[in-house]
Amino acid sequence: MQRQYREFRDKLPADAVLFFRLGDFFEVFGKDAEVASRILGITLTKRHDQPMAGIPHHAAPTYVQKLLAAGIKVAICDQVEQPVAGKLVRRALTRILTPGTALEDSQLDSRKSNYLLALNWDKAGWHAAWLDVSTADFRLASDVTPDRLFPHLHALSPSEVILPEGLEVPDAQSELLGQLLAGRSVSRTPGWNFDISAGARLVGQTLAVHSLAGFGLEETHPALGAAGAVLGYVTDSLCDRPRNLTRLTEVRLGQSVLLDPASSRNLELFATQSGRREGSLIETLDRTLTPAGARLLARWLAEPSTDLAVIRQRSDAVAALVKHPGSSARIGESLMAVRDIPRILSRLQNRLRNPRELGGIRDTLVTLPAIREELRATPGGALKELSERVHLESALAERLNAALADELPTDLTEGGMLRQGLDPELDRLRSLASDSKAWIADFERGEQVRTGIKSLKVRYNGAFGYAIEVTKANLASVPADYIRKQTMVNAERYTTETLRTKEREVLRSDEQALARETELFHELVAEVLKSSETLYVTAMALAEVDVLRGWAELARDGDWCQPVVDDSDVLEISEGRHPVVERMLRNRPGAGAFVPNDTRLASSGEQVALITGPNMAGKSTYIRQVALLALLAQLGSFVPARAARVGLVDRIFCRVGASDELSRGHSTFMVEMSETSNILNNATVRSLIVLDEIGRGTSTYDGISIAWAVAEHLHGKLGAGPRTLFATHYHELTRLADTLPRLRNWTVAVREWQDEIVFVRRVVPGSADRSYGIQVARLAGMPPSVVARAREILSGMEKGGGLPAAANMPDVNPPPAKPMKVEKPTKPKASEQGQAELF
Ligand code: ADP
Repeated sequence: MQRQYREFRDKLPADAVLFFRLGDFFEVFGKDAEVASRILGITLTKRHDQPMAGIPHHAAPTYVQKLLAAGIKVAICDQVEQPVAGKLVRRALTRILTPGTALEDSQLDSRKSNYLLALNWDKAGWHAAWLDVSTADFRLASDVTPDRLFPHLHALSPSEVILPEGLEVPDAQSELLGQLLAGRSVSRTPGWNFDISAGARLVGQTLAVHSLAGFGLEETHPALGAAGAVLGYVTDSLCDRPRNLTRLTEVRLGQSVLLDPASSRNLELFATQSGRREGSLIETLDRTLTPAGARLLARWLAEPSTDLAVIRQRSDAVAALVKHPGSSARIGESLMAVRDIPRILSRLQNRLRNPRELGGIRDTLVTLPAIREELRATPGGALKELSERVHLESALAERLNAALADELPTDLTEGGMLRQGLDPELDRLRSLASDSKAWIADFERGEQVRTGIKSLKVRYNGAFGYAIEVTKANLASVPADYIRKQTMVNAERYTTETLRTKEREVLRSDEQALARETELFHELVAEVLKSSETLYVTAMALAEVDVLRGWAELARDGDWCQPVVDDSDVLEISEGRHPVVERMLRNRPGAGAFVPNDTRLASSGEQVALITGPNMAGKSTYIRQVALLALLAQLGSFVPARAARVGLVDRIFCRVGASDELSRGHSTFMVEMSETSNILNNATVRSLIVLDEIGRGTSTYDGISIAWAVAEHLHGKLGAGPRTLFATHYHELTRLADTLPRLRNWTVAVREWQDEIVFVRRVVPGSADRSYGIQVARLAGMPPSVVARAREILSGMEKGGGLPAAANMPDVNPPPAKPMKVEKPTKPKASEQGQAELF
């Protein structure tokens, strides 16, 4: 066995741990055992001086999950025949589990896609292919520069990346690559795995097609190398070729709004700045009821459309559901019964077979007629196209209904998944088994009478089989023909010749019944898989229905409106609100209502909106709100506004001045500047740019100068430019309006009242003439003496007196005359807490 173990171990990479099946346990040896015990906290033992650890096989999924999360792959070596005493059992590598190739439910987040990405660079540019084997979503793309491709790859958030060994990329791009790989599991494979013609062949073989032309791909497409690398890796990992893949799609990068990672982060699309989903846009938008719907929502959000036909189709579907709340509610109810068909299919196709999941297909099929009817019957016709993609598969539904039991086990070996009356042979074997069980009950009663032992029991146990159990107190009455089998604490167990014979019979018929049932089950699965293509298409349509219905609910609850999306160059919003902040305020008791604001932008008209106002006035919220509304509109969703018109946007950029962004190991000012230059270099006249306090990361004069020059550049000298919202608290910048015809000054109004300020959150034309920094400082709980002193200094400077001379500085903090009394610290009152922390 040691030799057998070594053979398997030697074939595996060093970053994998080998789980070696030994009876009911997976054993881990040597270095693997040390790694496993460190990460899993399991006990190490020693045998022949070799460290080892054991894991009960039924608990393996949890442990595998923990190892994968720690970036360690797990190879499973299973017993592939029934063990026979005295003979070495045959074993085989059945699976190498890695983060990007998971199929098992226990290793996946049902609401997230799970991509394996292969990426390569050559003189022709970047080439990528990615696959979520759990849903058969397989795509590729090439691009000369990383500018369009990398944002897309970031948005996929791959769980694992494969690169060719020794990949060298130009210096300027290696940092981008580093950012993409950061925090992900990365594997390197020999460069020949990325060979293009070998890749084309492997794709053809795996997807069982003669030519790739059906996918619109030339056999020489440069990303086919990466596609081949993905398939090679998945095949190694499954220890078999993936059986569920049927298509490979090329992603055309210009067809969605380009959202680079920094913009996505700054707009808090998938997570807040602090990394939580709570408070992100996706959390607000997600009213889906099915896992496939949740995954589709994330994909749509990562790539809002630039195709008017797609946008309008989605938006009209939402409108129909908003208008007909009854339909929407009934569809919602039916969707509750829809199971994760894409993932269930992938598992069934790759031989992970669980009766309960087959039941999931049945339950979904049962609910389809109602969904399709409802889609068809909703007036207006906007849902008709979706209804046509829902295929009922009625024959299959009937077949599954007739064959599968109501309650299903998760494990094939438990049996009991098929109905009585389905198959005469199965019924016969089952009745044999149950007749024998009845016989045993009779036998037990008979023995009780014969021996006079009332407490005598016939028991069954997996390891020892059937036994007659007699308590110690009754041992004297045990007849001579009883054969001792096992001694317990309070009892003895026996068998007899008759019982032995019957035992063999029972076990044999049980076994035969299960074998027959398993055979029939696989036949049933094969029947289901014949329809896998239509089931998949249906599942994707249901996922769309799920997302759109969720948006309709959201729109109705939040009083959102249907935006007009066209190819004009305007962005006009009447009474717009920030979708996430509004919701937060609504859920916070005592918080005021969100104040709506209008927006008017046009590339060739009011192109640049410069928004000034004191800190805390609401500038950031406002400019992000505008970007989010444009994005929602291009998703096909309704928007939180009274009315909106969005001329197609091709890219959305959102940058925030240094001190708001968390430091990422760079000088934050450097990051701010390089991100800003990325915008200046890549924005087009169709882009939407949101800049928040750009220039803040340096000294005031530098900052103003940079912000000034950036605004001038974006405005440009031509007749049109990208629609831009520029928030700043440098009110000096408002003078730009004197020279730039398409720049407008806006301000977030504040009201002054007895030397205090009140935020009214209204965006109005004009500029803030003061920054109100001192008032805001006071609102923040600054000690009154400091506020008064600041006011004195400011007024001195405003009168042209400059900074106060050192000699004029009062003793703000005079040294104590007497040594301070040391008091026991007490918890400060809430009103003092701010001050206590300051000191
Ligand atoms: P600034 O960027 O001007 O410093 P923020 O946009 O960060 O200000 O907003 C400050 C606070 O005001 C936030 O906590 C936000 O919740 C609140 N706020 C902003 N805009 C509105 C609005 N339109 N209605 C109600 N509250 C708002």
